[in-house]
Amino acid sequence: MPKQIFERPTITRLTPGMPSKHGAGSVVSPFPVIEGIRVDDLMDKYGSPVYIYSERVIRRAMEDIKRAFSLRYNKVQMAWSYKTNYLDAICRIFHQEGSWAEVVSGFEYDKAIRNGIKGENIIFNGPGKSFEELEIAVRNGSFIHIDNVDELYMISDLCQRNDLEARVAIRVNMDIGIYPKWDRFGLNYENGEAWDVINRIMINPRLKLVGLHTHIGTFIISTDAYRIAATKLADLAFNIAQKFDHYISYLDLGGGFASKNTLRGAYFSGEDTTPSYDEYAETITSAILNSQIKPDKLPTLILETGRALIDSAGYIAGTVQAIKRLSDGRRATIVDVGVNFLFTAFWYDHKLFPVNSHSGLVEETTVYGPLCMNIDVLRPSLMLPALKRGDRFVITRTGAYNTTQWMQFIRKRPNVILIDMNRNVHLIRRAETLDDISGNEVVPQYLK
Ligand SMILES: *Cc1c(COP(=O)(O)O)cnc(C)c1O
Repeated sequence: MPKQIFERPTITRLTPGMPSKHGAGSVVSPFPVIEGIRVDDLMDKYGSPVYIYSERVIRRAMEDIKRAFSLRYNKVQMAWSYKTNYLDAICRIFHQEGSWAEVVSGFEYDKAIRNGIKGENIIFNGPGKSFEELEIAVRNGSFIHIDNVDELYMISDLCQRNDLEARVAIRVNMDIGIYPKWDRFGLNYENGEAWDVINRIMINPRLKLVGLHTHIGTFIISTDAYRIAATKLADLAFNIAQKFDHYISYLDLGGGFASKNTLRGAYFSGEDTTPSYDEYAETITSAILNSQIKPDKLPTLILETGRALIDSAGYIAGTVQAIKRLSDGRRATIVDVGVNFLFTAFWYDHKLFPVNSHSGLVEETTVYGPLCMNIDVLRPSLMLPALKRGDRFVITRTGAYNTTQWMQFIRKRPNVILIDMNRNVHLIRRAETLDDISGNEVVPQYLK
């Protein structure tokens, strides 16, 4: 066991909420430290707002998910979902932990190659692949997950013209008991479309059917949905073996596991309702093992888990800009993090903590970002102590999707830092400058 880093003991003053006739008031505890480093120090050095990632939390999550699945099934392969977080430093941690790359665009494909991933370890998903992108992926021997019939013919055309062979899988959509159905991606199971395309692939000598894929959605808290999905994919695999005596090499169950965040408006906290990796693993692996596939022909199980692995490893620290009263007397807190930097505020009731301790008095407040847009609301209603202009805060579990779906609207993107396993701090994406943003613009001569 590696030597643990010494952690100085601290004494924290407990500040109980003011009691009232309804009992003790809610308490908002301060959040002064991330991975043993004072948030104030990080913000003094890297500014506000700042994105902060913990390498330890990422590696721990990878260990946990790999353990949960490999205990139950002996061929498991993780593939990091680039669109969930494609900062190179973050991707490389996942790759070091053994993950392949799962990409959904040519841009992400190029990023994966630049991160040192071999073409044959890239899974190429997505509904809008271009002819040129497909050709590169075929030449590199990547796994191409066919989304639609047009794509099938595009691949077979380019293979014919260039005398190439392609490793393909199909993306399957299906009724998994969650409505409205997600049927816009991939080929449908129930209406026979998936089976039809499988038959077309199997008679094409240039196409090697290596796998079956589904991605049933995101933040799926029903393990039963995965049981249905795995059962239907295994069924297809068995039918392929029966008819063609061909054994596919993998079943890819996609991503979609929920993180421990709480969905907006949910009554119970995500910490209490999100299934564990063990629960997801138990359901998925038993569906595959209980299928009719022969034990010595069991395919590799691929997982493209994104959100659940990275959400808790990310934080955003920011600063209060102003406090005001709305016309109905409610308190409003304006902060320097808007939905431009925290896209997931549309989905989650993100937790927000003051960095330093305050009096026990809390009051309901709306938390607004700094954008001049009505939709820029981080939390419609939140109990917070009486923060003032200049006070700092931390928002937790912000690791998924926020540094890919961030928006360049009226503000430049801030620094992104990583705290490594030894508590060294690394700048992994520097704050943007005016040149980063305006450098691509061209002013016609006559306007100069
Ligand atoms: C987005 C996506 C993922 C990752 O989904 P999460 O919900 O973040 O786990 C995996 N596979 C595909 C095809 C995706 O589009």
